[in-house]
Amino acid sequence: MKNKFILLDRDGVINVEKNYLHRIEEFEYEKNVVSGLAKLRDLGYKFVIITNQAGIAKGFYSEEDYFKLQKFIEEDLRKKGIKIEKSYFCPHHPDGIGKYKKNCECRKPNTKNFELAIKEFEIDEKISFMIGDRVTDLIPGQKLGMKTVLVKTGYGVKNISKLKENGLDSIVADDILEFANLIEEGENQ
Ligand SMILES: [Mg+2]
Ligand SMILES: [Zn+2]
Repeated sequence: MKNKFILLDRDGVINVEKNYLHRIEEFEYEKNVVSGLAKLRDLGYKFVIITNQAGIAKGFYSEEDYFKLQKFIEEDLRKKGIKIEKSYFCPHHPDGIGKYKKNCECRKPNTKNFELAIKEFEIDEKISFMIGDRVTDLIPGQKLGMKTVLVKTGYGVKNISKLKENGLDSIVADDILEFANLIEEGENQ
């Protein structure tokens, strides 16, 4: 049997969007994240994170900095009862420096990291969701047959008008908890 998953963007979805966040001291949860993820967990969903980290490509922080913060976030969520199965990241950017300057397949809206997650966790696209605050998070999800959710945290409000022009028929929710409530209502009907 294949698995139902919630794929999550990180910045502006799990944590408050701060330009190129990489310091643990600056990490701050977006509203209703932990309660929303707990509800989705109770509905049987598992979680992976898929994040673009162009700050690495641009030299603002290192891969090591990224791993340090990511470990902190995942351990903190774990203490709160939320398990992130795995985080996939893209350290590249077309205008990056050195080895990170690349037109890669893993930077959203490209689909490589989604495909890796689907394969590794036997994700059933048809019953899984991608949650993001930008259309570039949602495009690869829809392309691969998932349902997509734009949350109004981070850049979400600014991206609502871009849904239509990108052919996205996404659910729009205030935050992860509101989305979780929608799913719960749907299952109880
Ligand atoms: Mg984001
Ligand atoms: Zn990449």
